[in-house]
Amino acid sequence: MSSPVIISIRGLTRSFGDVHAVTGIDLDIYEGEFITLLGPSGSGKTTVLRMIAGFEKPDAGSISLSGKDVSQLPPYERDVNTVFQDYALFPHMNVLSNIEYGLRVKGVAKAERLERATEALHQVRLEGYGERKPSQLSGGQRQRVALARALVNRPSVLLLDEPLGALDLKLREQMQIELKALQRAVGITFIFVTHDQEEALTMSDRIAVFNQGKIEQLGTPREIYNSPRSSFVSEFVGQTNKIQIADEKINIRPEYITISNTHIEDSRVAKGVLKDIIFVGATTRYLVETDFGLIIANNPKETLVLGSSVHLSWDKNKEFLVR
Ligand code: ADP
Ligand code: MG
Repeated sequence: MSSPVIISIRGLTRSFGDVHAVTGIDLDIYEGEFITLLGPSGSGKTTVLRMIAGFEKPDAGSISLSGKDVSQLPPYERDVNTVFQDYALFPHMNVLSNIEYGLRVKGVAKAERLERATEALHQVRLEGYGERKPSQLSGGQRQRVALARALVNRPSVLLLDEPLGALDLKLREQMQIELKALQRAVGITFIFVTHDQEEALTMSDRIAVFNQGKIEQLGTPREIYNSPRSSFVSEFVGQTNKIQIADEKINIRPEYITISNTHIEDSRVAKGVLKDIIFVGATTRYLVETDFGLIIANNPKETLVLGSSVHLSWDKNKEFLVR
């Protein structure tokens, strides 16, 4: 990426008693990018975000924002804003007052407050909702208000900690696309936290995969998915077959394996018995018992019968190595 670095993290470390929440993280984040911290619960994502925001102090290491070390500064002296999963709106204030609250605290004059709050409402597509109370909004609308309240401050960086976690699947998928479009439109750097791999793949320019307080891999969604560097990443992002053939340990995604009633020539072939067929909506998983163990294939050549002998084949070039 050719954009300048906006946040530079070096050796970032934080423990809580015996728990090593974050252990020596290095990460450069570029201006205007959408970067996602992806990992299982407890892997240290929120702790990193809280240290960037200034709600938590590092035990060691540094965080620079636009070239200035901010590790020891309080939150309000950092040009970043956070959007939380639980929205944290003021229930007694209407939408417009919620949005302009931060500006009021900073002493911004009334006319400018109104102008900027109205613009923020427009950005999150909530024109006309200014007079409503949070209780009169749906979950998705409340999340948008929370977003507008952060955007109105025009921060250089927006931190989002599982902001879509409370929404149902349909709305979440819609918000993922909207949020990504909004990020492109405003050009603010987004640091987004999620444990949902599909969400991360959908939205991000780059993904940092977290495991036990460390970054296991950093890359574009395609790099992370197609060339996972560790067993952990290959299993956390997508599905993987781990197969031992003679002395070779190979990894292959189910969608690259063709399954058929007859032999199909390819650089890898295997025979087995079709043990199960699992319908999962957009794809169907075929579980095949082979001499090399259970293999999952997603790519059927024709209609297949449970319990029958089947042939698997795939291109060796689609296999990947992990440590
Ligand atoms: P994630 O956001 O990836 O789920 P967190 O950063 O919240 O992970 O937590 C990382 C680890 O640090 C977890 O084991 C968690 O229990 C622990 N932890 C986080 N905050 C605190 C705290 N304030 N006190 C004690 N332990 C904490
Ligand atoms: Mg968290």
